[in-house]
Amino acid sequence: MKNELPVSANARSVVTQLQKAGYETYIVGGAIRDMLLGRTPKDFDISTAATPEEIRQVFGRRSARIIGKRFRLAHVYSGRELFEVATFRKAPGKKDLAEHQNGGNDDLPDNLIMSDNSFGTSKEDAARRDFTVNALFYDPEKKEIKDFTGKGLEDMERGIVRAIGNPGLRFEEDPVRMLRALKLVGQYDFALDSATENALFAKLPLFELASSSRRALELEKILQSAYGDRLFEVFHDYGLLNLFLPKLDHAWGSDAMNYALDLLFERNCRMEEGCFRNSISLAMAVIALPFVEAASGRAPGTLWESSQESDAVIDEIVDTLFLPQNMMVRMREAACRILRLLPLMEKRENHMLRRIYSSRSYGHARELLLIRQAVAGKPLEECEALWPDSVPERGPRVRRNRGRR
Ligand code: ATP
Ligand code: MG
Repeated sequence: MKNELPVSANARSVVTQLQKAGYETYIVGGAIRDMLLGRTPKDFDISTAATPEEIRQVFGRRSARIIGKRFRLAHVYSGRELFEVATFRKAPGKKDLAEHQNGGNDDLPDNLIMSDNSFGTSKEDAARRDFTVNALFYDPEKKEIKDFTGKGLEDMERGIVRAIGNPGLRFEEDPVRMLRALKLVGQYDFALDSATENALFAKLPLFELASSSRRALELEKILQSAYGDRLFEVFHDYGLLNLFLPKLDHAWGSDAMNYALDLLFERNCRMEEGCFRNSISLAMAVIALPFVEAASGRAPGTLWESSQESDAVIDEIVDTLFLPQNMMVRMREAACRILRLLPLMEKRENHMLRRIYSSRSYGHARELLLIRQAVAGKPLEECEALWPDSVPERGPRVRRNRGRR
């Protein structure tokens, strides 16, 4: 189908160079969905008939790097942008399933995919993808969308999330797909097609078998996005939140959880307006804040007194809220740093200013203060004036001559 989609010039250049070298190549994945819905894609993924080595030959060693051990693909630099370029793959064969790899481990379902690295054709590549709306391929030269499953464009139009093939089997092969299905529901306000929905309910318990690094990766994307609050609601409605982030699910409906969702919504709005960057650690701090407040025993909306004990409480709360995901230590620590700064900033004692401004998390802690302020319905000007966006320049340090004794 002819259709002109707003592909970035750099992405288009990567596709064109591969096509000129004789390799069938398309833009794939979330970018097509976003462009069809008139949204700005966050990145462009590219799929091609070229193998990783052939991709490197086309772009040269300086612009293309082969990455990944299990799922090998190439990172290609074009302009100042980085693109993931993957070779077309086909659905895993029998030897790639747990039945043939688990050495008699009865805890794994037989159809769980253990490896996924056999190259295939563009059509096979579309068929191994999870949902019809995720299997649309776009050729920016011909301005043509390829809908190999035959349902993708219609499902986009109607807002339907439909598993490709047998939904129950697809969820068994990879339980993370259940989370991905509900992400599409929350992100675009799509509905699950009834067979996909029934299979999801039936296979939900398998979610616990999904690899913790894949779950962490999805959580990072959710926290980076501007629709995390909506996704948590959908996950809760479908019973997935209990398996994904049990602490948040247990707290569902509590004052702390409602406050966390309000804060997250406010952060998302500000991010969409372009005021904030999409920081994962800020989102973690935003969600954890009401739980730290509640643990301090103070009235809701009142910050705690900074102390060693409160720092330990922050660590524990951040850890338990985002378990059982393996969040990267770096993000977890940044989230804790943001929360530790908050009561210091609220007190604003002169002798603490230097420590506050010199913290790596000052910018994010400032954003969290503004979010709290906005949710409380208070004006932001005073807070913005007290805490400037960029750290005030410190004058040259004057050495005091203490004299020798
Ligand atoms: P997002 O906007 O979150 O990046 P996305 O659909 O682009 O959404 P990616 O994780 O970037 O998600 O994956 C790119 C594409 O790879 C998907 O659109 C889908 O076609 C395919 N894909 C990703 N994960 C799976 C999976 N678990 N099973 C099958 N196909 C998948
Ligand atoms: Mg993507």
